[in-house]
Amino acid sequence: MITLKNFIGGELCDPAHGNYLDNYNPSIGEVYAQIPDSSQEDLHAAVNAANAAFPMWSQLPIGERSKHLMKLADLIEANLDQLAAAESQDNGKPVSLARKVDIPRAAANFRFFAAAIVNDGTSAHIMEGQAVNYTRRAPLGVVGCISPWNLPLYLLTWKIAPALATGNCVIAKPSEVTPYTAHLLGELVQEAGIPAGVLNILHGRGAGIGQMLVDHADIKAISFTGGTSTGKVIARSAAEQFKKVSLELGGKNPVLVFDDCEFEEAVATSVRSAFTNQGEICLCGSRIFVQESIYNEFKEAFVSKVQKLKVGDPNTTVDMGPLVSREHLQKVKNHVDQAKKQGATILTGGEKIERKGYYFEPTVIEGMDEYCAINQEEVFGPVVTLVPFRDEADAIAKANSTVYGLAAVIWTNDLKCAHRVAHQIQSGIIWVNCWMLRDLRTPFGGMKASGVGREGGEEALRFFTEPQNICIKL
Ligand code: NAD
Repeated sequence: MITLKNFIGGELCDPAHGNYLDNYNPSIGEVYAQIPDSSQEDLHAAVNAANAAFPMWSQLPIGERSKHLMKLADLIEANLDQLAAAESQDNGKPVSLARKVDIPRAAANFRFFAAAIVNDGTSAHIMEGQAVNYTRRAPLGVVGCISPWNLPLYLLTWKIAPALATGNCVIAKPSEVTPYTAHLLGELVQEAGIPAGVLNILHGRGAGIGQMLVDHADIKAISFTGGTSTGKVIARSAAEQFKKVSLELGGKNPVLVFDDCEFEEAVATSVRSAFTNQGEICLCGSRIFVQESIYNEFKEAFVSKVQKLKVGDPNTTVDMGPLVSREHLQKVKNHVDQAKKQGATILTGGEKIERKGYYFEPTVIEGMDEYCAINQEEVFGPVVTLVPFRDEADAIAKANSTVYGLAAVIWTNDLKCAHRVAHQIQSGIIWVNCWMLRDLRTPFGGMKASGVGREGGEEALRFFTEPQNICIKL
């Protein structure tokens, strides 16, 4: 049994009250770790450490801050094997995916923002003959970063990296469902020689330590990724203190397949965009709309590929591991059962896999229009629907028919159609003839109930700083 620790003031420490939560390995459904159930005392210790570190960290020359973050990126890469194994054990994702995507991306997050600050400039507005205005961008102080369980280290570092790079000190709250790599990150921060108190990591429940972090008066901003309903609670709490918030929330992403697309590529990538990471990626395409003229052909090719997906022990060569928890497995099953009751046709899958652990079959559903629950509610699992559409206008209306607006995929060889459709889809991210092709400089985030604000590149550097205009009379 592993006992994870909080990371406060540069030290790995036990929770002040000595309370712990169970942490499960989803591939076997057994407890393998105890994690701190942190309290106000732990938060106070972390806030004190962060406040004490802030003057030094925020005034460090950017070249020095950058070097610290580069060192951390190197250490993440050097510990790829251990971090990937931990991520897979905690979350259930295939270890091969964690090695290829999650851990390299965590290193890339630090490297990207470490480079960004040394290349960043500021703006000046000159009033000829009268004055010069320049914009100073100051760090906010101590900020909170709260992340979900689906891409644990990847998303936690996506927030921590720009916050630290811009000179803030951070209190991070990883998901209580997948805390292991955040614990290991604390060890690497020590090894990298990052000064004590600059990054603090508190484990525990969302409604417990998460909410305390949001409510603490010394926390100047909250960067949150997670569910839409949690986002609402956080936005409400933060509004009381006019706290800056960045909210990356749920999605129900459409994939539009036009009849002139590269067929094989559209089928293969749509399988990947539906089932990578067990469908537990906010960017997964869970509603596939296919033009009537190729609907049957697409359905046949798609279902045949899905049936070849290998589900099993994430330590072996598989396409999908188990879902993250017993509760989540049940939630996914309930969505599918409800769709069945409402008349859905299950083309493949639809059931739990009878074995130890939290496995669910890759599932393809048809026969439900865009307004049915299965096409409106976020399932966040290996479940995708197929729906035919008539023409461009119908495709756009169907794509926009949910409260969400995170990502969309368009498959067509008609460039004009791609632009026209992209401009009318209410999504923060649109991929044309590809999926999950990420450039860290681009704005990342959702419209409507999928979020407020954007992460990535300049957007993140702006979020974690306060602009101050300084006007000097000539
Ligand atoms: P969640 O909202 O349950 O939890 C996310 C984090 O918030 C966890 O660390 C949790 O402990 C914490 N939390 C919960 N209640 C809190 C509160 N009252 N105050 C402060 N913190 C609180 O989400 P989840 O189940 O971990 O993740 C799945 C969701 O995340 C899905 O809806 C998915 O779409 C979304 N997601 C969005 C993106 C994106 O970039 N838009 C990326 C990944 C996941």
